[in-house]
Amino acid sequence: MKVYNTLNRKKETFVPLEERKVKMYVCGPTVYNLIHIGNARPMIVFDTVRRYLEYKGYEVNFVSNFTDVDDKIIKKAVEEGVSAKEISSRYIEECKKDMAGLNVRPATMHPLATQEIDGMLQMISILIDKGFAYPAVDGTVYFRTRKFEEYGKLSHKNLDDLQAGHREIKVTGEGKEDSLDFVLWKPKKEGEPYWESPWCQGRPGWHIECSVMAKKYLGDEIDIHAGGEDLIFPHHENEIAQSEACNGSAFAKYWLHNGFLNIDNKKMSKSLGNFFTVREISEKYDLQVLRFFMLSAHYRSPLNFSAELMEAAKNGLERILNAAENLEHLKNNSKQAAMTEAESRHWNESSAFVDKFEAAMDDDFNTADAISAVFELVKFCNTNVSQDSSQQFLEKLSMRLKQLCDILGLLLEKKQEILDEEIESLIAERKAARKEKNFARADEIREILLEKGIILEDTREGVKWKRA
Ligand code: AMP
Ligand code: ZN
Repeated sequence: MKVYNTLNRKKETFVPLEERKVKMYVCGPTVYNLIHIGNARPMIVFDTVRRYLEYKGYEVNFVSNFTDVDDKIIKKAVEEGVSAKEISSRYIEECKKDMAGLNVRPATMHPLATQEIDGMLQMISILIDKGFAYPAVDGTVYFRTRKFEEYGKLSHKNLDDLQAGHREIKVTGEGKEDSLDFVLWKPKKEGEPYWESPWCQGRPGWHIECSVMAKKYLGDEIDIHAGGEDLIFPHHENEIAQSEACNGSAFAKYWLHNGFLNIDNKKMSKSLGNFFTVREISEKYDLQVLRFFMLSAHYRSPLNFSAELMEAAKNGLERILNAAENLEHLKNNSKQAAMTEAESRHWNESSAFVDKFEAAMDDDFNTADAISAVFELVKFCNTNVSQDSSQQFLEKLSMRLKQLCDILGLLLEKKQEILDEEIESLIAERKAARKEKNFARADEIREILLEKGIILEDTREGVKWKRA
């Protein structure tokens, strides 16, 4: 299996540190809002990487954090007049709902930055003891970037070029030795959450969180570290500096980065008004369509999101689901149990699609080509099965299709669509039940609708409903 390693800018044969085991860390979102569809890309692609590694027989320890202390969280908390904890807890829960909708499996461990402060204080102390960090007079602790000789090895940046870029930036903070130095710990500002430390009451910088959580839950050396390409510099570069300086060993063997998702060929941004949350997309599409759409491109390529491309993804996924449904239907009505000789031959032939799928995934997780192999299997099924096919043949083909779709995290069951008229008629029935004081039936109807993803709201103007 080959994976593209950002560290060496080439595809390399994947050899884990420990046989049959993979230690993988993926930088998670900062939780101050509903996640947007750009955030969903690393979630989907690295969940697929994990699924494929498991399919290949590796035991994957998959750790992905939630950054639950950050300027944006604090700002939102101030705006709403609630605590930062309330904001982060709320959006962690919402994020988990979106992940479930996208069929992204929960990580082995989802650590929270605020629960790992002790580890951060410890790592910062070690860095100070080793001369890689220093406290300034105001209590800010900085990493001494130039002391880490390999700084820049991931982003392929040269320190002098970086310094030149910094010339305009004043060395802020009294006692900061070099404009290249970055923050490990910073003093609290009025009203902000803070923790005690030997340097000042304050909170951690963003980069130190991931170094500490990866070390605690996976160890000093890990196999795969992943995230969006915007994290290469400075976040991942800084993580390497902190971890390697502290641990005295290499940090991550393979660095994987997904390309960016753009909207109608423009950078997604709130100010441009081309910004979509996963929740908004879920009001129009089954989130499986979004997952399928994301996997239709190679994870390192930039990916453009548009209404037309989502429609194409919807149709593509539909073709696969129809084939699966057809196999199931024929199987349930088949009169013949065992495979015929011709079917046996066909069955053997169909393994070529699995080979093709694996070859694509072995080549740096090329899900686009893997999906082509699934389409070929779908076409093969459609042309080689009929009412006369045996149950065994249909069952085997059905399992083969399911196995490949499972790796991509695509669910084969079609969601029963509920039509607006059905909803309206159930709401009317609920209203009548309530009038007759049959609250049991009224509650039952609310539950039925909820199961179908319809949320009811009793308002002064009557009952309103929306799709979850
Ligand atoms: P953040 O919450 O900004 O730290 O982002 C969480 C993850 O989403 C990181 O891995 C980012 O690189 C990734 N990400 C953010 N925006 C996009 C985008 N437009 N396309 C792809 N990945 C993104
Ligand atoms: Zn990180």
